[in-house]
Amino acid sequence: MHERRAKEICYGLSDNLEPFISVFHISQDMTESADCIFCKIVKGEIPASVIFEDDLCMAFMDIFPVNAGHCLLIPKAHYVNMFDVDLETVAHLAKKLAVLTRSINLAIGKGGVINVVANGEEAGQEVPHLHFHAIPRQSGDPFGFKFPPGYRDQMAPREELDQFAERIRNAI
Ligand code: 5GP
Ligand code: ZN
Repeated sequence: MHERRAKEICYGLSDNLEPFISVFHISQDMTESADCIFCKIVKGEIPASVIFEDDLCMAFMDIFPVNAGHCLLIPKAHYVNMFDVDLETVAHLAKKLAVLTRSINLAIGKGGVINVVANGEEAGQEVPHLHFHAIPRQSGDPFGFKFPPGYRDQMAPREELDQFAERIRNAI
């Protein structure tokens, strides 16, 4: 049932269906994964400090906060990351992420909130259940992205940027 719905969403989005369909064939039942820590939180098998939840998603406090007030937003169904999540779910998550982010800003008020999502181990994803981080930030706090030295010394050539844009556009 879930797989059929996923396929229908894909048919509406792309003429090149095969890569999308093969992603959705990976799991017979994408709604949960038995040994997934976040699925266990959804099922109430392990505790979490829940901020809000609805049929599709849940927001709760990160157990190892980078900064005080660090929250996570997850879909209740087990999607690994942005590579396999269906676009209806991600649209709902985006709205809820905005609500969560504004609420953190009002409640914690450190000056800024950063939203981060890691897709894949190479990107730093440790828990293989899609999650959006919402982390309060203030200048001088220890959190930050690491940029290579001298990365702003030279702008990328327009030709190179256009080539990347074309490659990505062709993958849509
Ligand atoms: P990632 O590195 O995958 O982007 O982030 C995973 C996040 O999940 C980390 O910030 C980590 O602290 C958090 N986390 C891992 N296990 C648990 C848990 O059992 N409960 C909660 N609330 N957060 C967890
Ligand atoms: Zn899961």
